[in-house]
Amino acid sequence: MISFTDYLRLLPKAELHCHFVSVMRPGRLVELAAKNDVLLKSTDVDELLDYDNLVDFLDVFNAAHEVLVSPDDFATVAYEGVLDAVEAGNLRYREYYVNPFNFLSRGISYETLIDSISQGLAQAETDFGVGFRLIPAINRSHSAQSAVELVELVSAHPHEKVVGIGMDDLTPEGLEEPLRFREAYELAGRRGLKRTAHAGETMAASAQNVIDAIETLGCDRVDHGYRIVDDPALLRRALDSGVPFACTPLSTRVLSGWAFDDQHRIARMVRAGLPVSLSTDDAVFFRTDIGLEYTAALPSMGFAASDASQIALTGFDAAWCSPEEKARLLADAAAGIRALDAALDNPALHTPAKEPTK
Ligand SMILES: [Zn+2]
Repeated sequence: MISFTDYLRLLPKAELHCHFVSVMRPGRLVELAAKNDVLLKSTDVDELLDYDNLVDFLDVFNAAHEVLVSPDDFATVAYEGVLDAVEAGNLRYREYYVNPFNFLSRGISYETLIDSISQGLAQAETDFGVGFRLIPAINRSHSAQSAVELVELVSAHPHEKVVGIGMDDLTPEGLEEPLRFREAYELAGRRGLKRTAHAGETMAASAQNVIDAIETLGCDRVDHGYRIVDDPALLRRALDSGVPFACTPLSTRVLSGWAFDDQHRIARMVRAGLPVSLSTDDAVFFRTDIGLEYTAALPSMGFAASDASQIALTGFDAAWCSPEEKARLLADAAAGIRALDAALDNPALHTPAKEPTK
């Protein structure tokens, strides 16, 4: 017999919204900084990851890029990131945002970057059976032209594990502005790349940003997307599109201060019928892991075992791997969920949550 918390932790999981440097162990960050002469504000992990403000956070975030120098550095971080997520939450598949321009500026070529990360992840796939794909990310603090250059770079160097484009950061004004990158997204579509965008996350964002990502940028998936529930008509359009959402509960608590209850926007998205999966976004920086995203968020949002297993399956369903790999992952996940359902100690937790209080 297992508890509901164990059930949530042990659910087979696919993570679709994960920025590569954020899978780095805090101890590895300190060690690589020493090896590669990068100055950190502290070598004490707790102090290092305790931010007073955004500038403080960005200092550490940028340092996490700078400490990665040799191909071995990338491969080691990639490998350990999988091992940790398997232990923390039974990770079975993951897609990673990788920002080439953050490394190109330090003389690390796109091919070296992709090959080094892929090597570590391929070794982890051999050892733990966790599949992966890579998604180069548009840095929104750079220009729209730079986003077009990123798409050109990606399509000039095809790689079997690189399947689409996504985003990170915010515009220099601190905004999302999906339409600023329209040309890059249209080009990606013509080049046969899948598309996802961070939209509807920040205080200044709106449901319209989410619809712009789906209908104008042609996104196959949306990251965050929370503001979509603020507008019933646009929510209807998102539902009709069938586009899945990769949501990150812990980051909403850290960045937006949203409590985990049945009125949380993620809870409302799930109840509205949107295909929602859960991810960590920036695990090391938000001090989370893929198990915690489920165990901390779902019970307090009012979800039962059947809701949680559906969310887990949505992650596999929305993945950008090959149809054969997806079919295998889904079959394995379904078998794992059947075993967990049988082992759950409280049958009441198998049933969907009651209608939430309005
Ligand atoms: Zn993100």
